[in-house]
Amino acid sequence: MTEKKVHKCTVCGKPSTQTICDTCEAHIQAEAVGEKKKSEKGIKVGGDVLADKAAGHKTGG
Ligand SMILES: [Zn+2]
Repeated sequence: MTEKKVHKCTVCGKPSTQTICDTCEAHIQAEAVGEKKKSEKGIKVGGDVLADKAAGHKTGG
């Protein structure tokens, strides 16, 4: 008897040969990249806003 061990995707629970199926893996990877980009952007935007505020103050609008 050759029983093939079938793992279950820990994310969606579907039978998969891996702990996380390809679909969920791609999803997680994309999310991780997005989070990284978001935080990077957030820092940049924060600095931009500060600079903009300072500039606005200077010109006196
Ligand atoms: Zn999955």
